[in-house]
Amino acid sequence: MTSLLPIPVTANLPYRQTNDVFIDGQWQAATGTGRTSVTNPATEEVWGSVPQASAADLDRAVGAARRAFSGWRDLTPTVRAGFLLRLADEVEKRAEAISHTNTWENGSPVAESSRAAGNAASIFRYFASLAGLLETPDVRPFPDGSGETVVRQDPIGVCALIAPWNFPINLVVAKLAPALMAGCTVVIKPASPTPLSVRLIIDAARAAGIPAGVVNLVTGPGSFGDALVRHPGIDKVAFTGSTPVGRTIAGACGQLLRPVTLELGGKSSALVLPDVDLDALSRVLIRSCMRNTGQTCYISTRILAPAERYDELVDMVTATIATAKQGDPMQPDTVFGPSATRAQEQTVRAYIRSGLAEGARATTGGDVASGFDQGFFVKPTVFADVTPGMRIAREEIFGPVLTILRYSSLDEGVALANNTSFGLGGTIFSEDPDLAFALAGRFDTGSVGLGFFASNHAAPFAGRHDSGLGAEFGPEGLKAYLAPQSVHRRIR
Ligand code: NAP
Ligand code: MG
Repeated sequence: MTSLLPIPVTANLPYRQTNDVFIDGQWQAATGTGRTSVTNPATEEVWGSVPQASAADLDRAVGAARRAFSGWRDLTPTVRAGFLLRLADEVEKRAEAISHTNTWENGSPVAESSRAAGNAASIFRYFASLAGLLETPDVRPFPDGSGETVVRQDPIGVCALIAPWNFPINLVVAKLAPALMAGCTVVIKPASPTPLSVRLIIDAARAAGIPAGVVNLVTGPGSFGDALVRHPGIDKVAFTGSTPVGRTIAGACGQLLRPVTLELGGKSSALVLPDVDLDALSRVLIRSCMRNTGQTCYISTRILAPAERYDELVDMVTATIATAKQGDPMQPDTVFGPSATRAQEQTVRAYIRSGLAEGARATTGGDVASGFDQGFFVKPTVFADVTPGMRIAREEIFGPVLTILRYSSLDEGVALANNTSFGLGGTIFSEDPDLAFALAGRFDTGSVGLGFFASNHAAPFAGRHDSGLGAEFGPEGLKAYLAPQSVHRRIR
């Protein structure tokens, strides 16, 4: 049994216990009475806490964002881009504290969390680079030549940004950067397990001189998120999280006719072709299929293997997963950490039991014992002999569990890839780039990676079906925060 040490007092964690929310440019005491505690999932040590804000705090945050809106909207896009560039620099200055806070709140290996600040900075810089798009006049003649229309783009207004716990920085910044570039103001609600690391983004925004009220942060449970979604002062909702909560939010926004962007769950497939280079696949396997201890929405956790190479592929996947180091997420060579919460650990174990009960074969892991005497660790597990009807083949597990299914023809492989209710990601592994590209077009998903997977800030990230509505990133991600206005005029 391995025991991990408590967090040292010298750790770089600027926020631990706090009663503050960020409203109108100031950290100020919340007036709610409840508190949410923050737990290190590697040791179960409770090391932080934040307030559960009251309805009055929510009103103040939305009110501050409303008051700040006209001033922020009326700056030119180039001036707003300047703020985003300064914000990117300020985020990078806080890289270590962001990484450590992130790892201690959700157990992401530090090899992962140490990239959060750089990635966030890169997202702010990308959206800053779109200022020109907002400044280029868009004039469209009437087809009959009788006049012309100037298509203006107004910022939508005050946006509610609601994030999950798996990537607590980047899934906020993916919304914050386009919202700010568009001229919107925001109220952010982080997930309850991860309310502290995002405070360093707020500090960076303050240091970058972003005006008071443009960015506000409040904390509270899911019911508080629901109140934020429905608040009369909110003009748009951007949400990343689970499909069930996404449906609830979509229902509320449908009633209110309130624009909403939803980035939800996934169950993506890796289609492995018979010509695959197994060594090359082995090198990207964990990044593409198991990133962040399996807690990444787009990873290809269903591996579709050609019957003629099934056993070879199972052996490679098993060996790659079994030899990757699981342990203290603060160690730079740790590949797998714990699950982020006790609830998630229990969900993953229930799926492992379900896979065994339905007759899948665990080639590594599959254990109840984690090998650790504390923490939310689940042994990384590979299931072979998985058939399409099994729950582990269809439902999002969100933990370190891979399933390997068998196909006999390419048509069957593509059909299996599309045989889920989700439509988020997917990967294709082949030595034939033209064939792989052609097959990508047959995947009914918003993104496909050929030989690897990474999201690109310049291209849309958009889930289909149960994976969401609308897109983040790219010019499409900026448009989600804009409302067009057509101004018709005669040509003199
Ligand atoms: P979650 O339970 O849906 O929660 C997401 C956020 O919504 C949290 O801030 C949560 O607050 C809040 N919330 C809960 N109930 C709410 C309600 N009724 N109204 C408004 N807000 C509410 O998801 P999670 O467990 O944090 O994250 C895991 C899920 O996120 C997975 O399904 C994963 O696939 C998905 N995800 C999707 C993407 C993507 O881009 N497609 C990326 C990453 C993760 P509390 O934490 O306080 O409950
Ligand atoms: Mg949740």
